[in-house]
Amino acid sequence: MHRYRYRCTVCRTTSPVVPGIEALAVAGEDHRDHLHGGHFPDEEIAGRIDRLGRWYAALPPLTALHAHLADGLSDLHDPKTMGHPWWASAVAAFLIAAGALLTFLLVPAVL
Ligand SMILES: [Zn+2]
Repeated sequence: MHRYRYRCTVCRTTSPVVPGIEALAVAGEDHRDHLHGGHFPDEEIAGRIDRLGRWYAALPPLTALHAHLADGLSDLHDPKTMGHPWWASAVAAFLIAAGALLTFLLVPAVL
């Protein structure tokens, strides 16, 4: 399940988590229509978030990879909630480390 949020930088408010891109568009449009007469607030933000509520677009690449893996593992256990169980975060870190280790071992062996 993908999670999204809309952020209005004029009102300094963030929408509750919405479960799909269509619901995100509705949340942003409702906010603009009711509070800003349909105008688009400068620098508004709308996008996908991880299970910790962080914007994927604002995360460094390695952190985003860890978030994607931990989100996927956490969704296997419980797709309706937020947050990561400790084991999902640990397995995601292990997978990244194992991938890096394999890369460093296999690339010199092939060359
Ligand atoms: Zn607003």
